[in-house]
Amino acid sequence: MPTITDEQREASRLYKEGHPASVCSCGHTGDGANSGHAGIFPCAGHGHCLIPGCSCGKFRWERFREPYMVKVGIHP
Ligand SMILES: [Zn+2]
Ligand SMILES: [Zn+2]
Repeated sequence: MPTITDEQREASRLYKEGHPASVCSCGHTGDGANSGHAGIFPCAGHGHCLIPGCSCGKFRWERFREPYMVKVGIHP
């Protein structure tokens, strides 16, 4: 993950309060609010996958979602 500024860190935090930021290697969203993965305090979306039929047991970061990168202003 590239180095981010304090502004980007804040934008990231705000975005994750309302949207999932990342995609898991199982293909479903994780790492953020309303993600496809169960939340574990304090970070939402790092537990097992909640999507029916998916056997993913733990969020494994695959990539950031496009809207997140645009909002925060980061590029892979
Ligand atoms: Zn998963
Ligand atoms: Zn899944």
